[in-house]
Amino acid sequence: MQDETALYGAKMMQPGLTVADNEENSLRPQHLEDYIGQEKVKQNLKIYLEAAKRRGEPMDHILLYGPPGLGKTTLAGIIANEMGVQIRITSGPAIEKPGDLAALLTNLQEGDVLFIDEIHRLSRQVEEVLYPALEDYALDIMIGKGPSAQSIRINLPRFTLVGATTRAGQITGPLRDRFGVLLKLELYSPDELSRIIQRSAGILDQPITPEGAYELAKCSRGTPRVANRFLKRIRDFATVLGDGVIDRDVSLMGLKRMDVDALGLDELDRSLLRAIIEMYNGGPVGLETLAAALGEEAVTLEDLCEPYLMQMGFLTRTPRGRCATRLAYEHLGLKASETGSPEDNGQQSLF
Ligand code: ADP
Repeated sequence: MQDETALYGAKMMQPGLTVADNEENSLRPQHLEDYIGQEKVKQNLKIYLEAAKRRGEPMDHILLYGPPGLGKTTLAGIIANEMGVQIRITSGPAIEKPGDLAALLTNLQEGDVLFIDEIHRLSRQVEEVLYPALEDYALDIMIGKGPSAQSIRINLPRFTLVGATTRAGQITGPLRDRFGVLLKLELYSPDELSRIIQRSAGILDQPITPEGAYELAKCSRGTPRVANRFLKRIRDFATVLGDGVIDRDVSLMGLKRMDVDALGLDELDRSLLRAIIEMYNGGPVGLETLAAALGEEAVTLEDLCEPYLMQMGFLTRTPRGRCATRLAYEHLGLKASETGSPEDNGQQSLF
């Protein structure tokens, strides 16, 4: 098993972690009240946590889903903090064999949180070991082979599994059914992102004006990780080219130099839309074909570009493939050709 398991708090001290990991950790809110936005999720979670604490029980298993960078790992850490327990962090692909999972589970303490990122990537074999662990806090282990094989049951400490996924649809039914709480994280509004940026700037000791923060927030694709990344890069521009303060002008200048446009689309987003429009007459085109044309992985397009492009109304998914909308043509300043107008692609209903 790769060594991805780490204590949340101690993660920063791991020798293999980069400066970027450490910085990301330093910006993570530790308590529910510092976690900005996701009001519905927070309100319900608060009640579930309080109820579990009052009953003196571990929290029920929780599945968090939503696009990358929305705060799933952060929320798992907060859940552990609020319950006053430790968290161990791993990911689906890191748990290669059932034995890897058994080792993780038997090392947990009563009440601990086990966080499995990308839980949709667990293998079937590993998943099957997980079922009794989730339901009965037990591991069923086979000893020996053939007719003399024996199954023995090992009791585990009561723990909370927090699973995170960008693909709720790829989680098998039996696994999904074993989570008592399903929480869907939504993209953040510019106001919420602006608050996140100002909070992060405070931690980084970086002066920023509300207007400067808002310009970055508007371009952050509804994602706190993108917002924090922009903050760090614009800080560089403010330090080297400005007077150290991030105001509206510095934000706009930095975003322009990073090729991020006024609506937060970067070069990859624009290439994706341009490919649909210029190479496939506006679509529909299959995701794999598009990925091959752009030299990117299909999952990169699906996880990183598409949620935001769809939210902005630039892209639609149809059973026959992806289509660019009229808004995408307008945003890129492209004219719909006679054969390739969005209306020709079965999208009349959009306009
Ligand atoms: P995910 O696990 O969903 O990919 P993370 O939990 O790693 O996302 O969050 C990415 C970054 O965004 C973290 O550094 C964290 O500081 C910041 N972040 C995420 N959600 C929030 C939030 N609600 N409030 C403040 N910061 C947040």
